[in-house]
Amino acid sequence: MALLELKQVTKVYQVGTVAVHALRGIDLMVEKNEYVSVMGPSGSGKSTLMNVIGCLDTPTSGTYILDGKTVHDDRIEQSSNGKLSDDDLAFVRNQKIGFVFQTFNLLPRITALHNVELPLIYAGIHKKDRIDMAKEALRKVNLEDRMHHQPNELSGGQRQRVAIARALVNNPSIILADEPTGNLDSKTSREIMQLMDHLHNEGNTIILVTHETDIARHAHRVVHFLDGLIASDELTPKGKG
Ligand code: ADP
Ligand code: ADP
Repeated sequence: MALLELKQVTKVYQVGTVAVHALRGIDLMVEKNEYVSVMGPSGSGKSTLMNVIGCLDTPTSGTYILDGKTVHDDRIEQSSNGKLSDDDLAFVRNQKIGFVFQTFNLLPRITALHNVELPLIYAGIHKKDRIDMAKEALRKVNLEDRMHHQPNELSGGQRQRVAIARALVNNPSIILADEPTGNLDSKTSREIMQLMDHLHNEGNTIILVTHETDIARHAHRVVHFLDGLIASDELTPKGKG
C-alpha cells in the first residue's frame, strides 16, 4: 500500500459568495522513501495540497489515506469515521507529519533543544525521554554543539537545522517542507538541501514545495501544479539515474 494516497481530492474555499476551487480533483500516490518536489505558479494550489497532506485542513471531497489511516473519505458516512474530528486530525498530524517552513517557525525565547522537544510534549512523552530524543534529532542535523543556544544566537542555516530536527524528532511518516530554503543564501541553501538528501538516504519520505528548479532537482520526482490540477508528474534525472 502507498504511504499516501489522494483520490479525486478537491478543496473549495468559500469567500463570501465566491467559491475558490483551489484543488480540482487531485490523484496522487507517494510511496515510502520517495522524494517529491511540488512546483507550480503562485495560486496553483501547492500550499492547499500541503495543508491537506499535513492534516492542517480537510478536503472538500475525495479520499485521503495516510499510512493506512483514512484521514478523509466522503464515500463513508460521517458516523462511521469517514471524516476525522479536529482532535483526531491533530493526533494524526502530531504522529505522522514533520513540518519544515520557509520562516523556520521556532520559538524565540527558548533553546534549540527545547524547540526540538516541543512536539514530544504534545505527544505526551516523558521528560527524560524527551531530552534524549531531542538530542538525538539535533545530532542528526549536526547541531548537538548548539543545543543550548536560542534561535537569535544561530545563523539562518542553523535555525533551519533546528527546525528540521524538530520535524524529525517524532519519527514522522512524512517530512513536508514548504520552501525550506526560501530565506537562505545560496551556499546555505545547498547545505540544507544536502541535509535533506541525507535524510532521504536515511529512509525518510520527503515532499518539498519549491519555486526553484535547482532545488526541485534534488528530488526524484517533480509534480507540477496548474490551476488546482496536476499538470505533470515526472521523474527527475536523479529519479531516473
Ligand atoms: P499556491 O501555494 O500554489 O500559491 P494556494 O494553495 O495558496 O496556491 O492557493 C490556491 C488558491 O486558493 C488561490 O486562488 C488562493 O487564492 C486560494 N486560497 C488559498 N487559501 C485560501 C483561503 N484560506 N481562503 C480562500 N482562498 C484561499
Ligand atoms: P556524502 O557522504 O557524499 O557527504 P551524505 O549523505 O553522507 O553524503 O551527506 C551529505 C551531506 O549531508 C553532508 O555534506 C552533510 O552536510 C550532511 N550530513 C551527513 N551526515 C549528516 C549527519 N549525521 N547529520 C547532519 N548532516 C549530515
